[in-house]
Amino acid sequence: MSDDWSFETKAIHVGQEPDEVTGAVTVPIYQTSTYAQDAVGKDRGYEYSRTGNPTRSALETSLAALESAQFGRAFASGMAAEDTILRSMRPGDHLIMGLDAYGGTYRLITRVIAEMGVEWSAVDLNDLAAVAEAMRPSTKFVWTETPTNPMLGVVDIAALAEIAHSGTARLVVDNTFATPYLQRPLEHGADIVVHSTTKYAGGHSDVVGGFVATSDAAVDEQLGFLQNAVGAVPGPMDCYLLLRGLKTLAVRLDRHCDNAEAIVEFLQGHSGVSEVIYPGLATAPGHAAAVKQMKRFGGMVSFIVSAGTEAAHELVARTEVFTLAESLGAVESLIEVPAAMTHLSVADSALAVDPALVRLSVGLESIDDLVADLTQAFDAIS
Ligand SMILES: *Cc1c(COP(=O)(O)O)cnc(C)c1O
Repeated sequence: MSDDWSFETKAIHVGQEPDEVTGAVTVPIYQTSTYAQDAVGKDRGYEYSRTGNPTRSALETSLAALESAQFGRAFASGMAAEDTILRSMRPGDHLIMGLDAYGGTYRLITRVIAEMGVEWSAVDLNDLAAVAEAMRPSTKFVWTETPTNPMLGVVDIAALAEIAHSGTARLVVDNTFATPYLQRPLEHGADIVVHSTTKYAGGHSDVVGGFVATSDAAVDEQLGFLQNAVGAVPGPMDCYLLLRGLKTLAVRLDRHCDNAEAIVEFLQGHSGVSEVIYPGLATAPGHAAAVKQMKRFGGMVSFIVSAGTEAAHELVARTEVFTLAESLGAVESLIEVPAAMTHLSVADSALAVDPALVRLSVGLESIDDLVADLTQAFDAIS
């Protein structure tokens, strides 16, 4: 029956059925490291909480269902989730990633995974001929984010999947920005979906977490082995916070999108802005792919301050509703300058971004207050 449910219903009920013993409507926080066994070799499904925990199982069932995946694995952070996928690579294996990969992903691949003898190429994933050309017999993963951070580039998931599958590569999509409410990469041919659940999935700036979803049983088996063998697992309280966040994902995302669209309109009409970057704009380079694979275009908006870098730094210090902070995807609106904050570690690489670029994570406050806040901040610096 749950297969027929719509996203909103699944988000509230799948994996979150009332507790069989007590009837508790909310999944209990099983704050335990170990489990009593009835006899040697006869446990009740759980032995030790690195290997498995019922609160984590509920989260894994819930988020896998939302991604239309057969299997899901929860991790202590988005980076831990990515690391676990990448640990299946061997010396000589090759990976293709985008030119504007998340800075942490770029750092993990180029400074940790590459140290183990793994080869990588960074290419423009919108240039499908370049991706096809970068493919090698040893290419194990094509790794993409869409939309990307902070340039909000959109890549065509189905087209990339086709290229990856023309060889022996699997397509990994980082779905952190879109969430499964707006985009389900497995339905477009991706093999593995990875998340920083720290962002929209949690949605309240109170938990760090990661997730991997797949319908490929061999991939899931390997992930399960590594999840237990390496042990980068989330605690039960963190899993509970994520289960709580997921229940309102659809409602939150709709409001994030409403507010983001209104802010895009405001910024487009503002003389202090030289460029607005949002995948929902018909002029955005990835707009056609976005329309094809996304329900709406998300809550992230970037723009370039026409007066330059110093003015951008001043602007973000002047907002009062938008909080100057890293991270994204939560109820409160955040503002930052990627070149000097989240993307400082890639400043001298191919991933460098315009120093006058401002990134907004548009929250759930009243749109009138958000627009008034940006208006007063622009006025103060002009
Ligand atoms: C934040 C983020 C990550 C890393 O996740 P953590 O939970 O911070 O470890 C990976 N990918 C994207 C797109 C992110 O925004």
